[in-house]
Amino acid sequence: DELISQIAAGEVVERPASVVRELVDNALDAGATQVTVRLLAGGVRLVSVEDDGGGIPRDELPIALRRHATSKIGSLQDLEQVATMGFRGEALAAIASVSELSILSRTPGQPSAFLLDGRSGELRPAARAGGTTVEVKELFFSTPARRKFLKTDATELAHCIEAVRRHALARPETGFAIWHEGKLVEQWRPASRDQRLADVLGEDFLAQSVAIDQVVGPVRVTGRAGIPDAARSRPDHQFAYVNGRYVRDKVLTHAARSAYEDVLHGQRQPVYALYLDIEPSRVDVNVHPTKIEVRFRDGREVHQAVRRAVEAALAAPRA
Ligand code: ADP
Ligand code: MG
Repeated sequence: DELISQIAAGEVVERPASVVRELVDNALDAGATQVTVRLLAGGVRLVSVEDDGGGIPRDELPIALRRHATSKIGSLQDLEQVATMGFRGEALAAIASVSELSILSRTPGQPSAFLLDGRSGELRPAARAGGTTVEVKELFFSTPARRKFLKTDATELAHCIEAVRRHALARPETGFAIWHEGKLVEQWRPASRDQRLADVLGEDFLAQSVAIDQVVGPVRVTGRAGIPDAARSRPDHQFAYVNGRYVRDKVLTHAARSAYEDVLHGQRQPVYALYLDIEPSRVDVNVHPTKIEVRFRDGREVHQAVRRAVEAALAAPRA
């Protein structure tokens, strides 16, 4: 089972940023209003994610580390309508198999928190306010071949920040903070979506972008599209969300790029944030363990919706 977990970990956990992504997913699923990420050595020595969400009851702590243990869906039908970030029950088991993982958690009803040590399985009372802290230490310490693939701390840190940024743009109502080596490196306070876009992508993005808001068939597309400016073209600043989930998808990228080419004849890497709302049964999120890829039931319909919505925004007269 240890071996199977480690193989599964290869698909879910590539680097510290993968741990950040999964732990922040869990914090958001737990209803957190504030998520604090603490890192040491770019996350290789420590990724700690602290939330003020619903917590994990004492008796469920050991279960949370088991493979395919999820509290989020109970049936195949739920899988069709999945509204949480997680649903596969793989992440914690996979991460625990390649690190030293501990969970400190307290539900509102419990008189104290409990600390579970993932290695020993020891469970003991501890102190904490309501919510959960998951600590992941020494990633890949037992798999030196994997550890060798990690880049410098600075690069791993940049990937960790990017992982939080992706969540932050999806959840403006949640506060985020990132600490590295004891220093606060990013802080995004709860805000409106436009304000969060400005906080994360820069005030100039807000000033130099147009609002997108169109319903095309079964797809609602909202967000903001940057007005091209060669200086601000960023290859890593194309954000797309489907039902609140960050995705990387060729259909969406192509549709957005086509809109820019049609209306403005250029700029291959415009900065934009696109939010698609679509009936859950029209999109399959269970395509890849990292859930970063999705499959649309009708890719053409989605392509058309995004292209039209971005075109309309870019073509609209600006004040
Ligand atoms: P999944 O998110 O797919 O359910 P995970 O392995 O990420 O699987 O987490 C396993 C379970 O642990 C979750 O279903 C949830 O019940 C619990 N859990 C993990 N992190 C948290 C958290 N921060 N707050 C509350 N519950 C959590
Ligand atoms: Mg999860």
